[in-house]
Amino acid sequence: MIEAAAPTRAIEALPDVRGSLRRNVPLARLLWFRVGGSAEILFEPADRGDLGRFLERLPAEMPVTVIGVGSNLLVRDGGIPGVTIRLGRPFSNVVRDGVRIRAGAAAMDVTVAREGRDAGVAGLEFLSGIPGTIGGALRMNAGAYGREIRDVVVSAEAFDRAGTAHRLDAAELGFGYRKCAVPEDWIFTEAVLQGEPGSPEEIASRMAEISNARNQDQPIRERTGGSTFKNPRGVSAWELIEEAGCRGLTRGGAQVSPLHCNFLINTGGATAADLEDLGEEVREKVKAATGIRLEWEIRRVGIAREPGHG
Ligand SMILES: Cc1cc2nc3c(=O)[nH]c(=O)nc-3n(C[C@H](O)[C@H](O)[C@H](O)COP(=O)(O)OP(=O)(O)OC[C@H]3O[C@@H](n4cnc5c(N)ncnc54)[C@H](O)[C@@H]3O)c2cc1C
Repeated sequence: MIEAAAPTRAIEALPDVRGSLRRNVPLARLLWFRVGGSAEILFEPADRGDLGRFLERLPAEMPVTVIGVGSNLLVRDGGIPGVTIRLGRPFSNVVRDGVRIRAGAAAMDVTVAREGRDAGVAGLEFLSGIPGTIGGALRMNAGAYGREIRDVVVSAEAFDRAGTAHRLDAAELGFGYRKCAVPEDWIFTEAVLQGEPGSPEEIASRMAEISNARNQDQPIRERTGGSTFKNPRGVSAWELIEEAGCRGLTRGGAQVSPLHCNFLINTGGATAADLEDLGEEVREKVKAATGIRLEWEIRRVGIAREPGHG
């Protein structure tokens, strides 16, 4: 049975918090795709202590999902059951210490790159083109233009599901291609990144190159979720999608971007189901045309809406 995000769990039954705890919060406006259902409960902690205490006291059977700014995330139309955690301003500090930068998990990647530029810390420019948070970058091992976050992470801090804080060094994070080995229900709260001395002018010029390249190659002003599929070994996902004739393919309000065919876009009225079904159609067509089974890079969370329900 498809479970609807029914109002079964009362806020009063949850641990007291200093931050914001709300029920039935629509998520679409918080996500790049601008689609998807509601969070049954949305928790935005006031600070680390608030987050840790909440997790410690939250019944173990309560599902927990963490979201960043949703630039690699598809929330299904029936919403997310249990508690969705979103880190906000209290987790967005960016502080420089020599050629290292300590960044809260809610800090935007571009903010970290700009801090590096202004302070003459090179090596973090690649972050300027990735429109997510540091927490999302750690989970996804985000990367662009030959660098990934794993190349610059010194350590990260995370809470486990029971509310215990852990400091993990780079090796313990177990990074792979668009993934890390930290358990899925752990929540990153900050990272320390290593740069090197550099000239602010040169850093600025590399960031401008990245920005120009992205403006040309990617539908960055669309409602999208970034690269839809991981690149199989030795080949680009977009080339396989092109070969399978899927560029521009549509389903409902969802479309394979005519500009970059490894991006799906919401042309306006798409549902999450349109986008996910279109992605599955692309996978099938690519398998039939090339024999290769594409793997989703976009994280899909939540539950489908019951048929005939809205
Ligand atoms: C136009 C466009 C261009 C993009 N270009 C690139 C690119 O060049 N390279 C690249 O790697 N990606 C790219 N992306 C994808 C995306 O920006 C990255 O994956 C980014 O790191 C996701 O961060 P987020 O905050 O949006 O996370 P979300 O999309 O909200 O979440 C992604 C995953 O991270 C987890 N997560 C988020 N925050 C935390 C946290 N604090 N603790 C634990 N888990 C967390 C979520 O649970 C989810 O599993 C692009 C996306 C768009 C829309």
